Amino acid sequence: MDQKSLVLVKPDGVRKHLIGEIIARFERRGLKICALKMLVMTKDQAKYHYAEHVDKPFFPELEAFITGGPLVAMIVEGPNAIKAIRTMMGVTDPIESTPGSIRGDFALDKGENVIHGSDSPEAAEREIKNFFKPEEIY
Ligand code: UDP
Repeated sequence: MDQKSLVLVKPDGVRKHLIGEIIARFERRGLKICALKMLVMTKDQAKYHYAEHVDKPFFPELEAFITGGPLVAMIVEGPNAIKAIRTMMGVTDPIESTPGSIRGDFALDKGENVIHGSDSPEAAEREIKNFFKPEEIY
């Protein structure tokens, strides 16, 4: 079944010139980019996006990082896209991520870990609304 995932190339990924590399991996896999933009996240957007983490001790640092520079937001679509993308990303801590995964190849830091991908269809629906109007999705 086709699913949509909200993917972010986080500000560290943009700084490391990884936008093309990450999009290329999804496209080569057969996934489709159906919406795409560059933006700087507002604090309100960050609090909505990371609602489950706002009370965690690492949130102030996470908020400063995620709002601290331009990022690329996209919607990636395809069969079982959510699981496929989570596997391609690697796990939250890049040190534990398999080489060959995006975090396993391009990150070392648990906070600055290059990429976000939705972890469920419900999360994807909620997260997509934070970045895209319906008419921006192709
Ligand atoms: N994060 C962090 N410190 C932690 C855990 C998470 O800075 O101890 C950040 C990190 O950028 C991570 C994001 O918060 O990607 C969201 O955490 P989550 O557990 O949802 O991981 P993800 O779904 O991104 O793998």
